[in-house]
Amino acid sequence: MAIATIHNPTVSNPQIDSKVLAQQTNLLFSYARPVHFAALAVFGLIAYLFKGAADPELFMAWAIYAGAVELIRLLLTFQFHSRHIVAADAKKWFRIFRFGNFLSAVSWGLVGVVFFPPADIAQQSLLAVMLLSVAALAIPLLSFDFRSYLVFSSFAVLPVGLNLIFMGEQLPVMIGLLIYAVLVLLCFLAFRFNADTLDGIRTRFAYADIAEEFDTEVTTRINAENTLRKGEQRGRKQSYVLLDLAKEESVAAGDLPRALTVITEKAAQAIQCTRVSVWFCEPDFTEFRCVHLFDNGYHDAAPNIRLGTGEHARLYKRLERMRTFAISDTQTDKRAGDFWINYISPYRVSAALGAPFRQGGKVRGVIVHEHVGYPRTFSRDERMFASSLADFIALAISASGRNQVQEQLRHMANYDRLTGLPNRAMFHDRLNHALSKARRANREIAVLFVDVDRFKSINDSMGHHTGDRVLRSIAKRLMRCVRSSDTVARLGGDEFTVILEEFEDLDTVVSVCERILETTAEPLVIADGDMQLTCSIGISLYPNDASDSETLLQNADTAMYRAKKSGRNGYSFFTPDMHTQAVTRMEKENDLRKAMQRDEFELFYQPQVDTSSGKMVGVEALVRWNHPDRGLIAPGEFIPLAEETGQIVALGEWVLRAAAAQARKWERHLSPDLHMAVNLSVGQFMLRNVPTLVSDVLDESGVKPENLLLEITESLAVGEAKSTMDLLNELKQLGCRLALDDFGTGSSSLTYLKKFPVDIIKIDRSFVTDLVNDPHDAAIARATIGLAKSLGLLVVAEGVETDVQKSWLTEEGCDVMQGFLFARPLNSSDLEEWYRERVLLLAEGSTGQEGASRSLN
Ligand code: C2E
Ligand code: CA
Ligand code: CA
Repeated sequence: MAIATIHNPTVSNPQIDSKVLAQQTNLLFSYARPVHFAALAVFGLIAYLFKGAADPELFMAWAIYAGAVELIRLLLTFQFHSRHIVAADAKKWFRIFRFGNFLSAVSWGLVGVVFFPPADIAQQSLLAVMLLSVAALAIPLLSFDFRSYLVFSSFAVLPVGLNLIFMGEQLPVMIGLLIYAVLVLLCFLAFRFNADTLDGIRTRFAYADIAEEFDTEVTTRINAENTLRKGEQRGRKQSYVLLDLAKEESVAAGDLPRALTVITEKAAQAIQCTRVSVWFCEPDFTEFRCVHLFDNGYHDAAPNIRLGTGEHARLYKRLERMRTFAISDTQTDKRAGDFWINYISPYRVSAALGAPFRQGGKVRGVIVHEHVGYPRTFSRDERMFASSLADFIALAISASGRNQVQEQLRHMANYDRLTGLPNRAMFHDRLNHALSKARRANREIAVLFVDVDRFKSINDSMGHHTGDRVLRSIAKRLMRCVRSSDTVARLGGDEFTVILEEFEDLDTVVSVCERILETTAEPLVIADGDMQLTCSIGISLYPNDASDSETLLQNADTAMYRAKKSGRNGYSFFTPDMHTQAVTRMEKENDLRKAMQRDEFELFYQPQVDTSSGKMVGVEALVRWNHPDRGLIAPGEFIPLAEETGQIVALGEWVLRAAAAQARKWERHLSPDLHMAVNLSVGQFMLRNVPTLVSDVLDESGVKPENLLLEITESLAVGEAKSTMDLLNELKQLGCRLALDDFGTGSSSLTYLKKFPVDIIKIDRSFVTDLVNDPHDAAIARATIGLAKSLGLLVVAEGVETDVQKSWLTEEGCDVMQGFLFARPLNSSDLEEWYRERVLLLAEGSTGQEGASRSLN
């Protein structure tokens, strides 16, 4: 302990000696300054009194010497005090002082020689007394260093004494001897004084050291006491926490999430750790799942941390024999690596105290108190506390188990056993509740009646087992289509209902229906392979269609039947009159989707003719809807709708595939370099997978890439977005050609034209129509042709209907023409016929006669 090193003040201690020397130096220099002033003054006085007695030259030499020494020493004191001098430097300054003192002593000694009046005994005595006084006065200053004093006083007094003694007369000799006696006395005094002063200094330093050590000792003691007191407080706190938990309702009631929140929070407080985690484990210890994390004041009730224990499962089995485990330093404790592998390091656990909780003697999980940043030990009390906490968790778990039984009973009464969805009773319950809420809030509610198409035949042909699977999967898919606040219920059989609350407008309802149709259509994997399901939906709305739950359900049912009647796989609103517009649009959409499924689309092809040779160089594919009731429908009627609803993506994909397949056929049977122009709509580009699609289609069909000509509209090209450019370049890299459709109708195409990687420009029909009558249109057409030529692009004129237009365009240098003058869009077999006739006609040399081909239309 510290006592052993207490210094005995009388025993020399080098450390203290150096401190003493430093203190001596300090004292010497701090007294010196006034003394040097005084010395200068006394020198002046002596010079004044005894000047007559001195030889003038000797006097001058002395004056310069003495004055210089005192001045230099004076400056040295300033130098000393202006610096921060460390103890190690003290020795140097101490020597400087001693040397200066010697020089001064010489000045004083010279006084006794230079100013010694040869014959005046009175003056001689006065001088001697003065010097003696100086020696006496030097005691307080120089007693800090006895050696300095000895030098000083001897040098100052000896010469004058010698002078007196060597005069040989009785009186001077007496005075001289007396002076020496006094000098000896003074030296003795100085010696005592010096010894006492040094003792004082030395003692002070020695005791200062002891005091310091003593101080540390006391602080350590106080700290230890504080730690003890804190431990005690913590212990007290821990028992309060346990008392609180015993009273905690959530634990007794089996409200597990709440109980874990309370327990972890209290645990963190009482054990003062960074984090408390609660883990559940499998009975075979193959996996630990963190179910609650209280980290730095924040709760996470679903941390989604899983620790697979794999080969270490055996190690974890040790938990069965433990009440607690404490790892005070995860860096050094080997068990840290065994337990909590993959957790310690990412979560920076430095120390951990864990306690397993059990149920029926089996470990169900662990509660872990974790420290982050520094190791720490856990006391016995803390271990006991942790194990009590684990007991509380076990308690909450078994209480929650009891709750679950009650919950299960309640569930059985209100939920469908097969799908877990609310049953009919619960559906009416929820709907009535929703209705009263909607009434108050003045809001709408939609009830959807969803019926699986042809379920009975599935059930009959594939068995109940598959039937059940279908119903369960439909239930899951329906749940995916609505928000968690909406209700999906199963009324029985293959009938499901959905209650939609708090929707913005009918569009939301429609989009839910569409989502349901889409998700239902996703293939379902069953034993014999994939199966595709569809369903029909009827919709009724509160308050428009009914205001009670029974009628709403009935109306939805009625509407569902209408959806079935109009071909299944669709939806139908109960009230056409109230939402006519919306409904017709929706029905059209519904129609369009069905058209896709029923393959009601067909491609027509319009020939494109080379201006100079009159030969057909390619065709443009134009889509038609072969409606079962309405016959052929032009794209203008459905393309915009398809774009709006996103169905354009599927439609466009179909068109591309069909056109490419046809092109490949014609490459082989008609002519190897006939091109196929396909329209790509802006909506297709939004999806951004066009290059992938095109590349797939090229591969599948085997058509020559340069024969595939993609028509993009100016509006797409005008968007200067880099992504659009990238996409177009990608398409070019696949080897296809790009045509700019409807040129001239968009905003400022000329500037963009240079930037876009197109090969062909199509002059819009509107310019061609009035070519001959409207000079403005003619000017635009002419400028376009000129510009295209200068950029090395091919020009195609659309909508050429008359010979006048044809000859105008021929004259202006247009390369290719397309229009009713040559042919209308034709189906594939008509096109082939037209082509063969045209070849014959050309062979007969009657290219100028378009009348013949027109008859084909
Ligand atoms: P478009 O690309 O400008 O196609 C040319 C349209 O002009 C075609 O109309 C064609 O029948 C018509 N046409 C051709 N020659 C003449 C003529 O001499 N006189 C007149 N009055 N009309 C002529 P269609 O087939 O009704 O197509 C209309 C638009 O629908 C097309 O305009 C195109 O933008 C779009 N479209 C057609 N098929 C598709 C397709 O498969 N995909 C996409 N995204 N859009 C298509
Ligand atoms: Ca086109
Ligand atoms: Ca066009």
